[in-house]
Amino acid sequence: MSEPSPMTDNDTPTEAAGPQMSIDVVSIFPEYLAGLQLSLIGKAVDRGHLRLDVHDLRDFTFDRHNTVDDSPYGGGAGMVMKAEPWALALEHILTGRGSAEDGDSPDRGLVDGAAAGPRPTLIVPSPAGQVFDQRIAEDLAGRDHLVFACGRYEGIDQRVIDWAGEHFDLLPMSIGDYVLNGGEVASMVMIEAVSRLIPGVIGNPESLTEESHEDGLLEYPIYTKPSTWRGREVPEILLSGNHAAIARWRRDRRLERTAEVRPDLLEKLNDLNKDDLAALERFESERSTVTE
Ligand code: SAM
Repeated sequence: MSEPSPMTDNDTPTEAAGPQMSIDVVSIFPEYLAGLQLSLIGKAVDRGHLRLDVHDLRDFTFDRHNTVDDSPYGGGAGMVMKAEPWALALEHILTGRGSAEDGDSPDRGLVDGAAAGPRPTLIVPSPAGQVFDQRIAEDLAGRDHLVFACGRYEGIDQRVIDWAGEHFDLLPMSIGDYVLNGGEVASMVMIEAVSRLIPGVIGNPESLTEESHEDGLLEYPIYTKPSTWRGREVPEILLSGNHAAIARWRRDRRLERTAEVRPDLLEKLNDLNKDDLAALERFESERSTVTE
């Protein structure tokens, strides 16, 4: 059975006057990123909100085998991505040139000719990076140019990352405390989280306001038709038409869910009102009654 499209008319991106953000991704598996052409991100590119370019790192190698890796100095398992192909790929992006075949060569220093303007942001996915979250997504959504450097093997030679820090706003980013095989999936996670915050990418901006993590709380439970499904009813309040009561019920469910699943998030909030605090006390005493 095919999945229904998650996109409703309300979510359809609007037409853009010009791209609000450029995203470049460098990978040895550019085909991995093809998923970004689907759904809302693909539509945002088609409608001109976003410019998205995926570059094959091997286009910036000049040997017969298009080598991008070598053994680690100091010994140890695995291979390390070589500095030079990365430097050439990043210089190519900095100078805003056409494809590598347009004439870049390994001995050419391109950065001196880079276009003036704010430094692009270089995101290097790494389990050793700062952990990506909604606040970082919001920060990145306000930037003009994001570049994602997808590592593979044991990662990228540190010298080219240090070099890149002189030309880019450098952000090593982890998507969580686990290890993936490569930076492609991590980059797609970040690109999706960031680009949906760009005005116009999601047609109905209200879709964004009450989502999990938007204001530090998780989302309330959601329901759609039919009102009775396999004997399970939609909470009656949602059928009442009483908007104030529905808003309070939803807020309470957000507080309750966050207290249950992510109490660490609640501890960071300092703008809870007296109704919120009363609701939390109520949940706490209900919970302790159940566990007694
Ligand atoms: N040797 C590295 C370490 O121990 O930190 C792990 C390398 S991992 C096998 C290969 C690539 O996957 C990394 O260079 C990075 O691009 C990506 N990667 C793996 N886990 C990640 C995570 N949690 N967040 C972001 N990127 C990750």
